[in-house]
Amino acid sequence: MTTLAREYHLAARPQGTPTAEHFRLVERKLPDPGPGQVLVRNEVLSVDPYMRGRMNDVKSYVPPFQVGEPLEGGAVGTVLASGDPSVPVGASVLHMAGWRDHALIPASAATIVDTAAAPAGAYLGALGTTGLTAWGGLLIAAEFKAGDTVFVSGAAGAVGSVTGQIAKLKGAARVIGSAGGEAKARSLTERFGFDAAIDYRAGDVRGQLAAVAPGGIDVYFDNVGGEHLEAAITAMRRHGRIALCGAIAQYNAAEPPPGPRNLGLAIGKRLTLRGFIVLDYQDRFTQFAAEMGPWLASGKIVAAETVVDGLENTPQAFLNLFSGGNTGKMLVQL
Ligand code: NDP
Repeated sequence: MTTLAREYHLAARPQGTPTAEHFRLVERKLPDPGPGQVLVRNEVLSVDPYMRGRMNDVKSYVPPFQVGEPLEGGAVGTVLASGDPSVPVGASVLHMAGWRDHALIPASAATIVDTAAAPAGAYLGALGTTGLTAWGGLLIAAEFKAGDTVFVSGAAGAVGSVTGQIAKLKGAARVIGSAGGEAKARSLTERFGFDAAIDYRAGDVRGQLAAVAPGGIDVYFDNVGGEHLEAAITAMRRHGRIALCGAIAQYNAAEPPPGPRNLGLAIGKRLTLRGFIVLDYQDRFTQFAAEMGPWLASGKIVAAETVVDGLENTPQAFLNLFSGGNTGKMLVQL
C-alpha cells in the first residue's frame, strides 16, 4: 500500500522577502514503513522565523534547505503505521518533518508526546522549543535575577510573550515589551501581564523606551535587532546583560545592515552581549518542563497561539511572521 503525501519544497532561493513562488506543493507516494520507520499523519505544523535563514545557501547552525527538496520544521502528528514497536500506531509524535501532511521518518526521529496532558500545539510552542528558548535565554544567557528591569522585543510573539511572563513570575522589578501596532502593544499589558509596552511602529524606540524605563534596564532580550538593539544599549544600566536571541528585522535584508552604532557604550557600561541557540539548553529540558508544565496548567503563563487552517496556507503563515500576522505561536492546523 502507498500513501499519497503532499509536501512543500523550496522552489527557489529568495533574495530579500520571499513570496509564494519560492514554495512548491508536491505530491509524493510514500511506501509503508520498513523496519525502524514510522508513517505519520501530521496534525499541527510549526512555522518559525529561523526557517528564513535556512532558505539561504549559507552555513549556519542548521544546514540550508535545498532547492527541489522538502522543507523541514517542527510538527506533531499521529502514527498511522509503524515498523518499530517503541513508537506504536496511534501514538502522537513530535518530529521535524513538517511542511507536509504525511511523513515517513525514522522512529528514532519521533518523540512521543502526551496530547491528553497538553494540546499538540503546546509541544511546538510554550512546552517545546519556544518555551525553552524563552526560559534558557532569559535565565541562562541573560543571567536574569529577581529585581531586574527587563525589556523584551518581539514581545507579542511566541518567544517574547513567554519571556516577559517568565520574568514576571521570577520576580522582575518591571517588564517592558515592544510590539508592532497599538493593539498588540496593549495586549502586552492586558493579556500577558507586562508592566509597560511600546509600539515600535509609532517610531522613536529609544525615546519611547526612555519614557517607560526612566531608570534604565538591566536585561534586554533581543528578538529583533536593529533599532531595538541600539535603543536597548542606550537604556542599559551598568553591568546589564543582553541575550541575543534573534534579529528578525534583518532576516529579509538583501545586504546585512551595519551593527549597532552605539556599541561603544558597552565598554563603559560593562555590558555583556551573549548570543545563544536553544539547542544549547537541550540538556536542561527536564528542568525547564518541570517549571513550565505547572505554569501552563495553572494559567500562570498564557500561551497564545495564532492558528492557520490548511496545508496550502503554510507558506503564507510563514510569510506572515515577517509582517506581524501572529500573536503568540504561529501554527498551521491540518
Ligand atoms: P514570533 O512569534 O515572535 O514571530 C515573529 C514576530 O516578529 C512577528 O509577530 C512580528 O511581531 C515581529 N517582527 C517581524 N518583523 C519585524 C521587524 N522588522 N521589526 C520588529 N519586529 C518584527 O517568532 P518566534 O517567537 O518564533 O521568534 C522570535 C525571535 O526569536 C526570532 O528572531 C527568532 O529567529 C528567534 N528565535 C531564536 C531561537 C534561538 O535558538 N536563538 C529559537 C527560536 C526563535 P510585531 O507585530 O510585533 O512586529
